[in-house]
Amino acid sequence: MKRKKKTNKIWLFTMILILSVLVSGCGQTTQKKEKIQYTKTYMDVFDTVTTIIGREESEEVFRQKAEQIHDTLLTYHQLFDIYNEYDGVVNLKNVNDLAGKEAVVVDEKIIDLLLLCKEEAELTNGAVNVALGSMLDLWHEARTEGVEHPENAKLPDMDALEEAMLHTDISKVIIDEKAKTVRFADEDLKLNVGAIAKGYATEKAVEGIFGNYLISVGGNVRVTGPKTDEGTPWTVGIQDPDQLDSYCYKLAVTGGSVVTSGDYQRFYEVDGKRYHHIIDPETLMPAAYYRSVTVLCEDSGRADALSTALFNLPLEKGKELAETAGVEVLWIPVSGDVVMTDGIKNLLK
Ligand code: AMP
Ligand code: MG
Repeated sequence: MKRKKKTNKIWLFTMILILSVLVSGCGQTTQKKEKIQYTKTYMDVFDTVTTIIGREESEEVFRQKAEQIHDTLLTYHQLFDIYNEYDGVVNLKNVNDLAGKEAVVVDEKIIDLLLLCKEEAELTNGAVNVALGSMLDLWHEARTEGVEHPENAKLPDMDALEEAMLHTDISKVIIDEKAKTVRFADEDLKLNVGAIAKGYATEKAVEGIFGNYLISVGGNVRVTGPKTDEGTPWTVGIQDPDQLDSYCYKLAVTGGSVVTSGDYQRFYEVDGKRYHHIIDPETLMPAAYYRSVTVLCEDSGRADALSTALFNLPLEKGKELAETAGVEVLWIPVSGDVVMTDGIKNLLK
């Protein structure tokens, strides 16, 4: 998670820009009942920008809640990091290094995340699968090299991708809930929780936070209630995939989560063609159906998991999944018309 990419940075600063445009008065605006809107930004979790906006009668109360949210995000950031180790923390990097050889005792938070990941893999028939790590590593290495040294940019070798794909069976991630251990029944299996961890952590971070709050962790948006006590909704923008400094839709949101997976968030170029970061397990190539898919539902972990899964599924299958999962979706296809569920249409501003 620490390895930074240029493309990623562009996307992050765009997010800040969009949020500051959308959430009017990001500074301090007096409103009825003398609540004031405060904003706090952090740059140290999940390799992205976290913005917390809330309305309170005193800055002290806001500061305490923002710190609580940030502390929780930091804890999850360290636990779910697959690239770096932290003193005194057994995290997913340690699990990836060891669990192919022995059962690793982990924090219950890791167990809970992995149980959700298994559920989502089953629900989506593997369209989002955190056990794709070995295969995703090849894309990650190729992308990192391609971003850092564009002249050397190349695609991962298809034979290597196919061989790695043999080690992505999530049923081989063995969880012992009682003993709190994780073990891989395949030595070459690796976890990559990038599709779910940020949303999951965001959901955990707002537990016990009530009132008028909007939290964006790299565009993974969760609101705890309306913007004002009178019920004014927050405006959440859906990024225009072609114009990263603007948005193509605005949603009026009073609760729950809005999460987008997009082809513009992380990518690199080979011979003038873009290759993004969401890999279709059917083709082992970047999924080719959409520019972005946005999911709206209560739980941010689920929204994150499903936005990635839906990005990998053709529209008809995606519609079925949205229906089964009970989530609202906005699909921006690579070509053709934008499609949205009724729940999204009703929130359009
Ligand atoms: P998101 O931005 O939430 O859609 O997640 C994308 C990230 O999830 C990527 O950067 C990869 O780390 C990982 N990923 C890519 N494709 C998949 C997939 N099919 N299933 C699970 N994780 C994936
Ligand atoms: Mg996701």
